[in-house]
Amino acid sequence: MNIAVVGVGYVGLVTGVSLAEIGHHVTCIDNNKEKVHTLQSGIAPFFEPGLDELMKKNVANGRLAFADDLSSGCSNAEIVYIAVGTPQKNDGTVDLTDIEKVAIDLAHIILQDMIVVTKSTVPVGTNEYIKQLIDTNIVSSASIEVVANPEFLREGSAIHDTFHGDRIVIGSNNEWAATVIESVNKPFDIPIVKTDLRNAEMIKYASNAFLATKISFINEIANLCEKIGANVDDVAYGMGLDQRIGNAFLQAGIGYGGSCFPKDTRALVQLSGNMKHEFQLLKSVITINHNQQKLLIRKAIDRFQTLADKRIALLGLAFKPNTDDMREAASIPIVNELLKEGVDVVVYDPATMETAKKIFLNNVQYADSIETAITGADIVFILTEWDEFKRLDIHIFNQLMKDPVVFDGRNCFDLDQIKKAHIEYHSIGRPTVY
Ligand code: NAD
Repeated sequence: MNIAVVGVGYVGLVTGVSLAEIGHHVTCIDNNKEKVHTLQSGIAPFFEPGLDELMKKNVANGRLAFADDLSSGCSNAEIVYIAVGTPQKNDGTVDLTDIEKVAIDLAHIILQDMIVVTKSTVPVGTNEYIKQLIDTNIVSSASIEVVANPEFLREGSAIHDTFHGDRIVIGSNNEWAATVIESVNKPFDIPIVKTDLRNAEMIKYASNAFLATKISFINEIANLCEKIGANVDDVAYGMGLDQRIGNAFLQAGIGYGGSCFPKDTRALVQLSGNMKHEFQLLKSVITINHNQQKLLIRKAIDRFQTLADKRIALLGLAFKPNTDDMREAASIPIVNELLKEGVDVVVYDPATMETAKKIFLNNVQYADSIETAITGADIVFILTEWDEFKRLDIHIFNQLMKDPVVFDGRNCFDLDQIKKAHIEYHSIGRPTVY
């Protein structure tokens, strides 16, 4: 089918490339001309494993193109996917400005009947609002149907997730539109859940809220493990073998970040409040995560009394491995707090250094390798579980630091291995070793 995807961020680009890969003709449209220009020259604007290859392949075979103009980009489209951002406003509500603009702009250019599919994460009721906006503003006699098709990909494994996802959710109040979108997705060979608009919107928020809850739960168990002398890795392993629990999202650490969990959990709390429903559990999940992000700093202050004038090397800035995304990463509040404490901060991440420079400016030093970062450091904080860190020869800490003290926020190393290397090592929910 001829498909347009509006908004070429993480979700839009992965969606467009994947739909082209299964045989559709796709034009990806973004109003950021610079981004479109980069894409047209064959470069993906962000790092995502496997994306570059699939993008180049489908541009070469003529199934994928890019445009910076909605009208020309949608001229042949039978289906338009909306994948623009839905950030959070200061009051906690979801900012639908970009969605509203796309809906009204579409209403001005649609000439033939069309299905509008919402990939963006939007509060319950938004797809009905999108239909109403387009119906009210449409200038031609064409008619549209809307489908909610929320996205569940994870940055860092987005292509894999799109082709091997657990389910595709298709919500519509129109059976014909749902069936068309079902057939568009058939080649992915992934179970499809067909439901109505509101259920589809709610499935997305409930799923993210549940995963965030699992993370905050295991982090609270980890904090308790530290107090009672247990090891959270062993506890989580024993729990995760129970199929009713499952082992995913049971890794203790310094909390969740990224462009989805923080924003979507807050949005669901806000939505509940609007309905006069106090979502106490989710409020606690958010508070626990907030506290957990600063845990390494509290541990370091407990150990050293003051961090002023210490040199601390931060390994990892991305909110998770295999992405260059730093949106709501734990590294941001950690760096800001350390700077307030008077710490000399040096940072290293395999993928986010350019993004980091725009956030931290000249307030921190930027290292070009793990070795440069830790040389002469008093303390190391590990904030992201990149493979590059997990595979590190830990003797490097002894070689390049005077009295190595490592605070690992992602439990990257085996405790027995660390014990043999005689490094002072503090991790999450596990005994401190020396
Ligand atoms: P993003 O910020 O990376 O990309 C959004 C893109 O939309 C930008 O390139 C922007 O220039 C473009 N845009 C904005 N207004 C536009 C307009 N009027 N016309 C054309 N382009 C326009 O966002 P993202 O991370 O891809 O997220 C998109 C949506 O998907 C959000 O609702 C998010 O919550 C949801 N989501 C994201 C993820 C994720 O891991 N990033 C996962 C699932 C769902």
